[in-house]
Amino acid sequence: MTPSAAATPAPGTAASAALFTRATQAIPGGVNSPVRAFSAVGGTPRFIASASGCRLTDADGNDYVDLVSSWGPMILGHAHPAVVEAVREAATGGLSFGAPTEAEIELAEEIIGRVDPVERVRLVNSGTEATMSAIRLARGYTGRSKIIKFAGCYHGHVDALLAAAGSGVATLGLPTSPGVTGASAHDTLVLPYNDLTAVAEAFAEFGDDIAAVITEAAAGNMGAVAPVEGFNAGLRDLTRRHGALLIMDEVMTGFRVSPSGWYGLEGVAGDLYTFGKVMSGGLPAAAFGGRADVMERLAPTGPVYQAGTLSGNPVAVAAGLATLRNADVEVYRTLDANADRLATLLHDSLDAAGVAHRVQKAGSLLSVFFTTDPEIPIFDYDGVAATETWRFAPFFHALLERGVYAPPSAYEAWFVSAALDEDAFSQIAEALPAAAQAAATAATPGDNA
Ligand SMILES: *Cc1c(COP(=O)(O)O)cnc(C)c1O
Repeated sequence: MTPSAAATPAPGTAASAALFTRATQAIPGGVNSPVRAFSAVGGTPRFIASASGCRLTDADGNDYVDLVSSWGPMILGHAHPAVVEAVREAATGGLSFGAPTEAEIELAEEIIGRVDPVERVRLVNSGTEATMSAIRLARGYTGRSKIIKFAGCYHGHVDALLAAAGSGVATLGLPTSPGVTGASAHDTLVLPYNDLTAVAEAFAEFGDDIAAVITEAAAGNMGAVAPVEGFNAGLRDLTRRHGALLIMDEVMTGFRVSPSGWYGLEGVAGDLYTFGKVMSGGLPAAAFGGRADVMERLAPTGPVYQAGTLSGNPVAVAAGLATLRNADVEVYRTLDANADRLATLLHDSLDAAGVAHRVQKAGSLLSVFFTTDPEIPIFDYDGVAATETWRFAPFFHALLERGVYAPPSAYEAWFVSAALDEDAFSQIAEALPAAAQAAATAATPGDNA
């Protein structure tokens, strides 16, 4: 399968294929974020015309049950009436003022009310901006330069966090993207996820230079890989003992896996938090927050500079507030139930087709790993990389052809919404046996069959 705009389109995808060809002449790769181009699975990316509830409709008029939810934000489903109404009302009152509003306080208070360790919140425009700002603040607060991150954890495309050197003992970060200088990656130590010994060794060697450890509160960007028992608590302990800050990146898990994110499930307090995705209900806004004494070091009260022309945008804030206010305990119960139900359907169909696999969960995030050791939990990036990812593309396309939109990469988590209904689950159940069969008969790389 050669991913190419010029490939013969699958039946019913002529409009998407034409748009993709046109897009590549105006936008690099035809997309504004790489995974949307279907590079990992091949074929024609579907151009979405509209969405409602748990369904997407593409440019050819095909409907899909959505198991991506815009990579997390749409926990209530698409075009939720209360969210759309809040956005409409906010837009009518003016799109941007460049001056403070009451709604920004309400959104900050909503976040503070949900996540105990968060005492102050600053709004930004993307998760990337949130982690970038949190790191600058941690460095400014501690007067130190080094950052520890974990292989397989994604924190947005911040230069210093695009370093992901090989695993093993403390390795000085090497940039993974051209354009990221050795200098900006140099202060990043990349360690294997869930390996507290490696963290302790790094602190023993570089302790006085380490400003912060940044971690996904539960990893979701290498597939769903929850922290092992004691890992986050161990990070809490080591950072405190060495005078470094712990940054919990909850951009993905925040307000999705519980009303107060991963913190609500585990209770390990970070010094700083980053949020995005759910908290802005599908519009571009994100946040970072945490201890008052640290956050007050930001301008204008403190010397660490951070700003944004559109930060706290009234329309984005309205979408976020309406989403969080409608995400009550019942919504979280439904998300958990839907994730369990999807996990069971995936597991049963792959079992029936004789495909070795493991459906792994982190709260209501889940993913399917085609691992030949299904009994052994996958706990780090090396484990993820060792799975049979070549089974994923045929699995994905068999689902897509049957109207089920899964994430277009083996390394991504699946995101349920509370809007999934009985029809959606029937459609998933009907699509899965053929998809499992496609995974079973997938050609091994190197096979020329
Ligand atoms: C999505 C994500 C980000 C980046 O957020 P953007 O809004 O895409 O910049 C950062 N951290 C985590 C854990 C994420 O899942």
